[in-house]
Amino acid sequence: MAHSAVALPSTCCYCGVGCGVLVEPDKQGDVRVTGNPDYPVNRGALCSKGLHLQYTVNDRRDRLLFPQMRYAKSRPLQRVSWDEALERTAAVFTTFIRQYGPDSVAFYASGQCLTEEYYVLNKLMKGFIGSNNLDTNSRLCMSSAVVGYKMALGEDSVPVCYDDIELADCLLVTGANPAWCHPILWRRVEAHKAANPATKIIVVDPRVTDTCTLADVHLQLLPGTDVVLHQALARVLIENGDIDLNFIEQHAEGFEAYKKLVFERSVAEAADLCGVAEADLRRAAGYIGAAQGFLSMWTMGLNQSVVGVDKNLSLLNLHLITGQIGKPGAGPLSLTGQPNAMGGREVGGLSNLLPAHRNLANAQHRTEVQQFWGSGPLAEKPGYTATEMFEALEDGRLKAIWIVCTNPLTSLPNVRQAEAALAKARFVVVQDISSKPETLAYADVVLPAAAWAEKEGTMTNSERRISYLPRVVAAPGEALPDVEILCRFARKMGFSGFDYATTEAIYLEHTRLTAGTTLDIAGLTYAELRQRGSVQWPYRPGQAASGTPRLFTDHRFYTPSGRAQIHPVAATFRSEAPDLDFPFILTTGRLRDQWHTMTKTGKVSKLRQHSPQAFIEVHPHDAQALQVQEGELVTVSSRRGSVRVAARLTTGIRPGVVFLPMHWGKILGSDLHRANNVTSNAVDPISKEPDFKFCAVQLEKYRKP
Ligand code: SF4
Repeated sequence: MAHSAVALPSTCCYCGVGCGVLVEPDKQGDVRVTGNPDYPVNRGALCSKGLHLQYTVNDRRDRLLFPQMRYAKSRPLQRVSWDEALERTAAVFTTFIRQYGPDSVAFYASGQCLTEEYYVLNKLMKGFIGSNNLDTNSRLCMSSAVVGYKMALGEDSVPVCYDDIELADCLLVTGANPAWCHPILWRRVEAHKAANPATKIIVVDPRVTDTCTLADVHLQLLPGTDVVLHQALARVLIENGDIDLNFIEQHAEGFEAYKKLVFERSVAEAADLCGVAEADLRRAAGYIGAAQGFLSMWTMGLNQSVVGVDKNLSLLNLHLITGQIGKPGAGPLSLTGQPNAMGGREVGGLSNLLPAHRNLANAQHRTEVQQFWGSGPLAEKPGYTATEMFEALEDGRLKAIWIVCTNPLTSLPNVRQAEAALAKARFVVVQDISSKPETLAYADVVLPAAAWAEKEGTMTNSERRISYLPRVVAAPGEALPDVEILCRFARKMGFSGFDYATTEAIYLEHTRLTAGTTLDIAGLTYAELRQRGSVQWPYRPGQAASGTPRLFTDHRFYTPSGRAQIHPVAATFRSEAPDLDFPFILTTGRLRDQWHTMTKTGKVSKLRQHSPQAFIEVHPHDAQALQVQEGELVTVSSRRGSVRVAARLTTGIRPGVVFLPMHWGKILGSDLHRANNVTSNAVDPISKEPDFKFCAVQLEKYRKP
């Protein structure tokens, strides 16, 4: 389809693959979106979500159009001016900060925020309010990967690029279903396998997903046994002599302790614990051992776990013992779920991070940032993480929360507890594009934000690729870009340093703070980004290549010794164990055509057709024992709550394991389909990422009373 000259290059606002699109406005203020044939990520292709991207802009029926406020908790929201809304918010924040200290307020934001928005939020909260209580929903999807990279490689740095897919001859896809959740990247894998049938693909997943259709071996492991599996693969690699002793000796540390650990359990025992055939496990190890280029891809199956950091480290160990990192076609590729989770990581947009990979615990790093911002001292203590914020609201430590671009009353684990906590909050601000999020019922102030294509800024995809997103059309009503809202608020608070003339001025300030760091992009302008199309950090303005596709090519890592760290992580079990009362293991996840809590994709009837209703996947053997037929309603209950959904019988799930999609929230006031009624808010002790992939539940056939 030909585009006119006014079609502007931008980036899809759904998943972390970060496909390039062309956005063309019309005279009515609507847009038309097509794949950008020149963009290196997708070469014009779009998945089902990307193909319907224009509805996020063109369907404005649910949009928030003006600021609203309620004067008492019992009163309804009513329309107010921007000044009134922000002055009241500033007055309340100031009162709480004076009375209870800066840790009494918090921002809870989103991996869908643009980098400039993260930057302003970070500067505002950590620099000027003086608390680290800024966390995002990225905590729920990739914080375990962040910790894994830091502990193993020295910094949170994804070493590889998408072009490594076509250069790899063995791909391990674990804890991910990219055929549905990162579809355009998966099409590249499919094309590579079709052109090079000898390429081996190993899929590790407790379910048979569409990703498995390409697998040479599918290890359908028991949920939660990933570390055991990784150690067993390592043992076979070591026994077969398929490790790179030269790399280990020259560039890594910790191998001897690790080797001792992995030899404590036989491969047969490990296979038994994981519930997979030993022969399959050995075959997978053989594929890795024989590979010239071994690439791993993973996402929530490893990250969303109470042992998420251990799962990440044990996977990274496979790359370190085989020397499969820092060379073409090799390395770990963590897939980010959200479009700009990476940008958030770059600016330090989590409650335990500082900009440009600086460390919160490092006094010199805190001083550098403070001096750069011209702010007060930065707090050393990490702020509340996503789930901790709601716990702090519950017990009154936190008085006020400002929720930006996220829908926690669908997406948080053990969500009924979060709902009760929000009801107790003294002051709630909701900044969003949509009137749908359940949080609005608890909001004291509602701030309408501009959506994708209605504001400009930058994002970074899973391969460190930064792209510029233009403002193509005007936002409806009085909605404002998020940075404008936050800067206006900062000025109402009396803070200096928030009077930017343009969004690019914010971005350039962010780039200057990266100078001399491992993700240096100092001075990279919007014009250069537009002219290049995109760049991969680190990047020096004006250099010949568009950035750095691959890190650690010299095998020097960002650790103090310069060597990668092999962590001998033991396999531990910390999840909620099934028992007689709750005998099934529940795992949750995404569907092909929906995005997160459906505030955007739920508007598109074509996307709803794929799975119009919530359901639970049950193995036929379990269904028979429960006397449940296909399509019949079952009540799924845990120690925290219940849902009532239709049973979908499939042999693609292990007996004893059930699967619920995570997308549905409240529908017409009913939360019967909301998976997170049931999930556990237990978290990994380091990454604080919740255990969305494992909790104990009971299933019962629903009988009308
Ligand atoms: Fe958008 Fe992800 Fe689909 Fe690409 S793969 S079109 S980034 S949703």
